[in-house]
Amino acid sequence: MSSNAVRWPISLWAAVTPSGPDCPELTGAQQADVVIIGGGFTGLSTALHLREANVDVAIVEAAEPGWGASGRNNGQVIPTLSRPDPDDIIAKHGAAGERFVAMLRDSASTLFDIVGRYDIAAEHEQSGWIQPVHSPGRIKIAERRVQQWSKFGAPVELLSRDEVRDMLGSDAWFGGFWNRTGGHINPLALARGLARTVLGLGVRIYARSPATSFERRGGKWVVKTERGEISGRALVVATNAYSGEFFDVVGARHRP
Ligand SMILES: Cc1cc2nc3c(=O)[nH]c(=O)nc-3n(C[C@H](O)[C@H](O)[C@H](O)COP(=O)(O)OP(=O)(O)OC[C@H]3O[C@@H](n4cnc5c(N)ncnc54)[C@H](O)[C@@H]3O)c2cc1C
Repeated sequence: MSSNAVRWPISLWAAVTPSGPDCPELTGAQQADVVIIGGGFTGLSTALHLREANVDVAIVEAAEPGWGASGRNNGQVIPTLSRPDPDDIIAKHGAAGERFVAMLRDSASTLFDIVGRYDIAAEHEQSGWIQPVHSPGRIKIAERRVQQWSKFGAPVELLSRDEVRDMLGSDAWFGGFWNRTGGHINPLALARGLARTVLGLGVRIYARSPATSFERRGGKWVVKTERGEISGRALVVATNAYSGEFFDVVGARHRP
């Protein structure tokens, strides 16, 4: 193992998923139109959509694509939020809330479409997603969810206790909220598949290259790593909960 090889956390996904693509470290002075820090779902999906729009993109990743939460989660593809329903979101955020609700409604299908379109092998199943009801009083929450998401055209249904028992094989539930577009996926395979896909489209991914700072210089963003730097017209910080893991990327000293 070389001194800068990445240590993967012990997980089921790491044990069952074929390796990701080989990516070089960032060395020397590089340029891209858009620079993305972080190679999880946020960074990889941003790179994919920008590249589909013909934008020159480079990702700077501290470890390897999918090393963060994207390669270590449950893999449930859930086209809803855990608490707020569409009316709550729109009441709070207006037109932006409406766009967000439409994006959420289509989110699972968007994911499965991308996986199909780019032939990503990620053990995916669009078999629906059920939020079971765990106490009799909470059936009202499921009813509200069905009523609200139906209004926005989502393929949702209220399930009876018997239907949930038949579908899940358990007597524990009092009913359920069912969205047919949800499903499951191997998240690490998805992240590695997305990385392979964007590389194939011409995105550069620099791995094992923690960003140690970024600054505005000569009208551009410049991201530095230990062995190199990359400048771009636009910068996307996609380090999420790992923002302080390698360097305080979004800490006070970087705020404008
Ligand atoms: C236990 C758990 C279970 C979950 N289950 C689900 C689920 O079933 N379904 C679901 O939809 N969501 C689930 N989630 C949420 C989901 O995993 C996250 O929302 C998603 O992975 C976030 O992706 P991301 O790209 O924003 O962040 P991450 O995947 O964490 O990516 C951030 C990346 O930034 C890199 N980085 C950090 N600092 C630097 C630096 N200085 N320089 C360069 N790179 C850097 C990291 O190495 C990392 O690869 C779960 C989360 C957890 C923790």
